[in-house]
Amino acid sequence: MGVSELKIGFIGLGIMGKPMSKNLIKAGHDLTVFDIVESSVKELESMGAKRASSSKEVAAKMDLVITMLPDSPDVEKAALGPNGVFEGIRSGSTYIDMSTISPVTSKKVAETAKAKGVRVLDAPVSGGEKGAIDATLTIMVGGAKSVFDDCLPIFQAMGKNIVYCGDVGSGQVVKACNQILVAGVLETASEALVLGAKAGVDPEVVLKVIAGGYAMRVLDVRGPLVLKRNFQPGFKTRLHYKDLGIALAAGSEYGVPLPVTSLIHEMMGAMKVLNRGETDHSAIVTLLEDLAKVEVKKPA
Ligand code: NAD
Repeated sequence: MGVSELKIGFIGLGIMGKPMSKNLIKAGHDLTVFDIVESSVKELESMGAKRASSSKEVAAKMDLVITMLPDSPDVEKAALGPNGVFEGIRSGSTYIDMSTISPVTSKKVAETAKAKGVRVLDAPVSGGEKGAIDATLTIMVGGAKSVFDDCLPIFQAMGKNIVYCGDVGSGQVVKACNQILVAGVLETASEALVLGAKAGVDPEVVLKVIAGGYAMRVLDVRGPLVLKRNFQPGFKTRLHYKDLGIALAAGSEYGVPLPVTSLIHEMMGAMKVLNRGETDHSAIVTLLEDLAKVEVKKPA
């Protein structure tokens, strides 16, 4: 069946799901929607969507079912619970969960899907409400490559940067990795801004220097070298340890607690104890690799 002829069911019409389902309608798809909030269903109905009274009813009528729900328990309930997707879905249909949930839950749902002969993808997004409205979301997809290829035009109606990540659950793993980085950048940038402000430096100046500098490029520059296991300095770990010591002393002087800076300082200190002080500061990854008993490198 061609993609334009697909009947799509969309469950979860919140901040993200509403604009995403509107974009599917704009792309010409035949949409049936369900949400526990009646006003959201009405809004989509006014744009030409059909309504269903449960996730089961959505799934029974549709070739493809998408969920966009808050968290793992919500997906379990809507997919596996009473009146849920898997009570209604037909063999040969496709189920795509686009919520951000645990990869463990994605795998559990995939087991049920397999037993029912249903094709399944996990496809969490980033880009926020604006990305959902503008159909510019990044979409990280896990599941069989052939199912991903079939569903690509559906994703293209909602997003721009659509990336196949690997087996079931991989989309959620990559999303979790992304969230670590977003949170880390926000928190450490906040530590920098608060230190600057309390020490009397214009925060606009701090932001301008940070945003235009190496901090924002460090992953582009060092990431590929980490995968090649190239830890030639660059910038030596022992010198970055020294610099974080300077930042912490300034924080102490001005009365600015710097919790994450302090943790990284201790980790770089441990690198020196392990005789890794002369390596590039990106070799901090090796400390975490030792704890996790794994090596970050490109698959052979
Ligand atoms: P939201 O709370 O605005 O929307 C969730 C919707 O699901 C609500 O309309 C709610 O009524 C509905 N719902 C809950 N349980 C249901 C059920 N059992 N059956 C039917 N409908 C049900 O959340 P959101 O911001 O749209 O986020 C959805 C997912 O996308 C989350 O996993 C979130 O982490 C992720 N996400 C959000 C953003 C963002 O900026 N908002 C960005 C990227 C990813």
